[in-house]
Amino acid sequence: MKIGVVKEIEFSERRVALIPDVVARLTKQGLEIWVESGAGDLSFFPDTAYVEAGAKIIADKSDLVSGIDILLKVGAPREEEVNLLKSGQIVISFLNPLGRPELIRQLANQGVTAFSMEMIPRSSRAQSMDALSSQASIAGYKAVLIAAAALPKYLPMLTTAAGTIPPARVLVLGAGVAGLQAIATARRLGAVVEAYDVRPAVREEVQSLGAQFIDVTLSEDTTAAGGYAKEISAAAKQHAQEVLTSHIKDADIVITTAQVPGKKAPILVTDAMIAQMKRGSVIVDMAGEQGGNCEGTEAGKDVIRHGVTIIAPENLPATMSVHASQKYAKNVMNLLNHLVKDRSISLDFDDDITNSTCVTHAGEIRNQRVKDALTQVAVTA
Ligand code: NAD
Repeated sequence: MKIGVVKEIEFSERRVALIPDVVARLTKQGLEIWVESGAGDLSFFPDTAYVEAGAKIIADKSDLVSGIDILLKVGAPREEEVNLLKSGQIVISFLNPLGRPELIRQLANQGVTAFSMEMIPRSSRAQSMDALSSQASIAGYKAVLIAAAALPKYLPMLTTAAGTIPPARVLVLGAGVAGLQAIATARRLGAVVEAYDVRPAVREEVQSLGAQFIDVTLSEDTTAAGGYAKEISAAAKQHAQEVLTSHIKDADIVITTAQVPGKKAPILVTDAMIAQMKRGSVIVDMAGEQGGNCEGTEAGKDVIRHGVTIIAPENLPATMSVHASQKYAKNVMNLLNHLVKDRSISLDFDDDITNSTCVTHAGEIRNQRVKDALTQVAVTA
């Protein structure tokens, strides 16, 4: 069985799907690994390290793709990559299936079997394959460093000969994987941290990291299947905003991470709230690529509103490509070990990990939410 890793072609993508350590483990299991020349360059893994690990380096992407059984990627394949794939081949990658259902339809039409890393179930059994979590945790860490670097203040409390400096106040909105890592990082830097999430179940996790959980009692069920958040009603949103206003006003840094799978990100910080913040404060909106949690957010840009800097970085995990690739490669290896038995692929659709992760097979789209997203696209068009 031949497995291929290509060089990512998205402009901001610095990660690679397999790192040499993981290649060594897979080759020991008898799998043949082909790596496109330069695939690991932006994660600082040179071709020579892949060769030492037992991989074969291939100069040309199309030669590589035509000779392999399974293609591994980080970012969803672009048109030119999809065109290289043939019926019966397998692709494992982030595919953004709900955001780009047409790509999934194209993969199905070409007879490609596609596994979407976003669709790994959020269960303990699948934890070692959970790339959304491994990458979100990196993003949460980096978001705090970006905010700290942009803040014209210290984060920790300091007692100095020139007087006492109070600790910065950090507010984290959305306490999922990224939010919890943001809380932990801000605490390590000495800030006073508060957090809010629509799911009350995260209260104890927030408190165990030394942050205060902001109580916004909502009179509706806010948790959907898989532990994700549900979209809340307009009345509940307004109530949450009223409670959050005073906390946002006092914050030096606001990190927003709130997302609802398959939907535009909810607005949690309005322009009126920003107007009440102290000049020089910083917002890092981690939901920028999904429309943003903050009014005025522009994905990929820094914007100044009412003296507050709103930063909406794109693809934060790619900015830490060494560890992001290391974690992603382990996630992919664990999924491969789940799917490959005796050096050949064995698909058991009664298994929940295989069933939910495999979005196309034998010419069919296998996921109802993707089919619904396609219908939605057709209606909107
Ligand atoms: P996510 O990226 O989808 O969303 C980030 C956070 O935003 C979530 O905590 C969500 O509740 C919150 N949010 C959504 N709307 C909001 C609003 N209006 N106001 C405030 N907060 C809002 O979430 P995620 O980090 O991918 O995690 C989703 C869930 O999966 C979490 O419960 C997480 O603990 C769980 N999880 C479980 C496992 C496992 O069991 N192995 C692994 C990873 C994550």
